[in-house]
Amino acid sequence: MQRVRLAHTEALLAQLRSAGPLSRAELIRLTGLSRTTLFDIIGDLIARGVVVEREPQLSGHRGRGRPSTTVSLNPSAGRIIGIDLGRATITVIVATLSHDILARGSRAVALTAGPVRRANATIKLIDDLVHGHGIDLRALEAIGLGLPGLVGGRGGPADDRPSVAAKQISKRIKERYGVAVVTDNNSRLAALAEGTWGATRDVRDAIYVRWNDGVGGGLIVDGRLARGSHGAAGEIGHVSVEPDGAPCPCGGRGCLELLIRPSALIERCARRGVTVADPADLVARARAGEPTVESEVRHAATLLGRVLSGMVVQLDPGKVAIGGILAQAGETVLGPVRTAIGQLAIPRHPRPLDVVTAQFGDDGGALGAVAAALRLKVSEPLPALPTA
Ligand SMILES: [Zn+2]
Repeated sequence: MQRVRLAHTEALLAQLRSAGPLSRAELIRLTGLSRTTLFDIIGDLIARGVVVEREPQLSGHRGRGRPSTTVSLNPSAGRIIGIDLGRATITVIVATLSHDILARGSRAVALTAGPVRRANATIKLIDDLVHGHGIDLRALEAIGLGLPGLVGGRGGPADDRPSVAAKQISKRIKERYGVAVVTDNNSRLAALAEGTWGATRDVRDAIYVRWNDGVGGGLIVDGRLARGSHGAAGEIGHVSVEPDGAPCPCGGRGCLELLIRPSALIERCARRGVTVADPADLVARARAGEPTVESEVRHAATLLGRVLSGMVVQLDPGKVAIGGILAQAGETVLGPVRTAIGQLAIPRHPRPLDVVTAQFGDDGGALGAVAAALRLKVSEPLPALPTA
């Protein structure tokens, strides 16, 4: 029932976003909702301050009969802040409840910075953006916060243990702005951004991989972001592909991330006598077809595809989206991933799976944080998301 209601609410808001102020009669026609349902949803949205009702302007009324009041998105209500506080970079997006981006900015943060410095640097960036763009934060509704690593679980208080640093950061931000802060893993939020507005928005089940020095991702299952019982859903980088391999900080051995992250590929190239400057150089030379670099990248993509194939068989996704810096290698990466999935998962699959490049680059995490905060505010509180 709740899911149907959510879909109806989103359909209605979509009409108001694209068409502007509309009468209830027009909304009934455009959404196909029953009068009772529509009035009920609008009443709820007005009570929440998401939409406002406007009296008819008689001077502009030329038709016969009584002019009707219109409903529109509340322009003064609803600022949402999305934050991706990564290991080395902070990205902030300020948006409206009607999904317009008012400001975006990013800034470097020292890898060694602790939670207090990270929180303060984030607050400074937000305040600078808000100042620079003349944004009124009195209308701030909610904040979405993406952080690396394990963030939260959903098994109730005993099981809900976001890392101490994550808790400290979200607490400080909540104290500063006085609104709910929805915290989640930043790669998972990037998956939510793709599912909401990006490459996988047209399917209900999707796998997203963010291929940077950290290899993370997220699963969208039946239109929702899966978080898992311990906040670890989507941690594809920590599937072991070499059980006797090198130890990983996660406690495992031979994790996929250790083998395919850009720094590992650059090292493998070096051992073969090819010096690669940085991840951007790695991607550029793989694209250009430089043999050693390309073969290392293709091999890594094959390993990723093999791990993905197990997930594909079990989830039966409509799409797999690859993001992160390695996704910029395009078909050099997508091809081997597709082939590996095809070889290992296709016997269970009626038709070839779409493996595509993610739509959002570095902004994905912050956009997903906006999406998570919007879901909290506009549609329905996701029971899985803890607030600070
Ligand atoms: Zn690991």
